[in-house]
Amino acid sequence: MIESLSTPHGDLSLPAFLPDATRGVVRSVDANDVRSAGIRALMVNTLHLSSQPGTSIVKEAGGIHRFAGWDGPVASDSGGFQVLSMTAGGPRGVTVSRKGLSYKLEGQSKKRLLTPDRCIQYQVQLGADLLFCLDHCPPAGADQAAHRESVDHTVSWARQCKEALEKRYPISDVRYPKSEEQQHRQLPAADRPPLLFAVVQGGDDQGLRAECAERLLELGFDGFGFGGWPIADDGGLVDAVGQVSDLLPDDVPLHGLGIGKPENVQAAWEMGYHTFDCTLPTRDARQGRLYLSTSRSLTSEYEYLYIEKERFNRDQGPVDENCDCAACSRYTRAYLHHLFCIGEPAGARLATIHNLRFYARLMDALASRSGT
Ligand SMILES: [Zn+2]
Repeated sequence: MIESLSTPHGDLSLPAFLPDATRGVVRSVDANDVRSAGIRALMVNTLHLSSQPGTSIVKEAGGIHRFAGWDGPVASDSGGFQVLSMTAGGPRGVTVSRKGLSYKLEGQSKKRLLTPDRCIQYQVQLGADLLFCLDHCPPAGADQAAHRESVDHTVSWARQCKEALEKRYPISDVRYPKSEEQQHRQLPAADRPPLLFAVVQGGDDQGLRAECAERLLELGFDGFGFGGWPIADDGGLVDAVGQVSDLLPDDVPLHGLGIGKPENVQAAWEMGYHTFDCTLPTRDARQGRLYLSTSRSLTSEYEYLYIEKERFNRDQGPVDENCDCAACSRYTRAYLHHLFCIGEPAGARLATIHNLRFYARLMDALASRSGT
């Protein structure tokens, strides 16, 4: 059982939910709000930040931590999923080749090429603590041939990403593959190289998932991520989520990309996943959908509370009487209802703080349950 992840910005206790700060900010709140909600790490997006303001500007500002006022661990998504998801609504000029992903962003005339080397360059410029290798995520419903190609690209790009990181850090300081000596050598936190995670693709083809995991394990990484679409039509997890966990050793950190519903986070944690990121709780908050714990000893059992509903206009109770967040300890449902009705951004802020606190409490509850 892994209890924490050692990063250049401190140890991250597990499990951990990383809210998506896609453009360097968790929407509607600032770093202090996020921290006070008990969140310990963030996920930023390489593709979006490379487009705006540009990773060189973030680097000049002292890296993403100083730029965004966040001193805890930061993970950076490779951007591969975002490039590919642009194809979901029809052909948008994204082409995949052995070199990488060629794409055109909304409103821009110039085509850009995201290669494995450039992907790592961007993430190193951001100064993230946990980097993801560029992977090839085929669109939903892709056929077996597409998944075959995706696995080949994903493994080849992962190897190139690893080489790209080693080029930028002295080989002796890079901690993978982890030898006994490297594992026990304690560099000061700030001198540690970032962690590099590879993504396991293969769709719902068990053979391809196994091959992808095996080839990536052979290359050696600090951790792995579940690649592809984790959510089934019924809202639960696809079988491949559990298969990927079974294919990897128990002591290897495993990230559930895009796994966000509380019951899915709990299920994935029980399968052996350690970290999660998703836009769900913060997007829900901005839409007035709040998570209501149904007991003081929080589990993934919860209800939704739609704060804009008329019946809350005279409700003098807190959003959630079991919650100790800044919103619940100071404001009433009637006040939050009012803020949402008048379209006041402070409403989205308080709702986001509350939903993030719900996830932080869920992580604590899962950790304490696994320790008993
Ligand atoms: Zn609350």
